[in-house]
Amino acid sequence: MADSLEQIGSEVSACVRCPLHAGRVKAVPGEGPAHAQIMFIGEGPGFHENQSGRPFVGAAGNFLNELLASIKLKREDVFICNVVKCRPPGNRDPEPAEIAACAEYLDRQIALIDPKVIVTLGRYSMARWFPDARISHIHGKPRRSDKRLVVPMYHPAAALHQPSLRQEVMDDFLKLPQILAEARQNWDTPAEKSVEQPAEIKREQPKQLSLF
Ligand code: URA
Ligand code: SF4
Repeated sequence: MADSLEQIGSEVSACVRCPLHAGRVKAVPGEGPAHAQIMFIGEGPGFHENQSGRPFVGAAGNFLNELLASIKLKREDVFICNVVKCRPPGNRDPEPAEIAACAEYLDRQIALIDPKVIVTLGRYSMARWFPDARISHIHGKPRRSDKRLVVPMYHPAAALHQPSLRQEVMDDFLKLPQILAEARQNWDTPAEKSVEQPAEIKREQPKQLSLF
């Protein structure tokens, strides 16, 4: 049977591959259109996400909604998920073994959705593509990975607590429309012609985005 987001959702709800299943009220597989052009990947569910089964519904989620609105996007336009689908107890950081155990679900989501742009929110999703990078060096800079652009950004929860990071995240979000335009343009570029170096994108005011 062909894979689907629903199939992944139901597997995640019953998953016992790592110890995080023990604290699960509701699994939080992620949500958004099956062919979203932009995918946001956070760390893991917090208290409110565990209760509701939806990603980014607490304070960090409200800030994420504001950031999306700043570039004329709604949550329903994008796919939002996390590296681990069950809540780490007390909101502790996810362990490497938990991230590894959960990676297959994220791999399948990326393969199915096939987004043009992936935005990593925080260190744990960034580490999947840039394991040795420092977020302070590479945030907001898109890099080509296969046929998409991956853009590391600070986690909205970190930004909520540090005013300087808040401005950085807001500025990085304003680059997204241009990055998406770039990713679309390069969509059919053969691999050998794709940019290997980080693509520095000019800062521009957001334009109205049309996603579909
Ligand atoms: N923080 C995350 O990384 N993910 C969520 O879903 C909520 C808060
Ligand atoms: Fe399974 Fe991922 Fe939940 Fe761990 S966090 S139990 S691997 S769904």
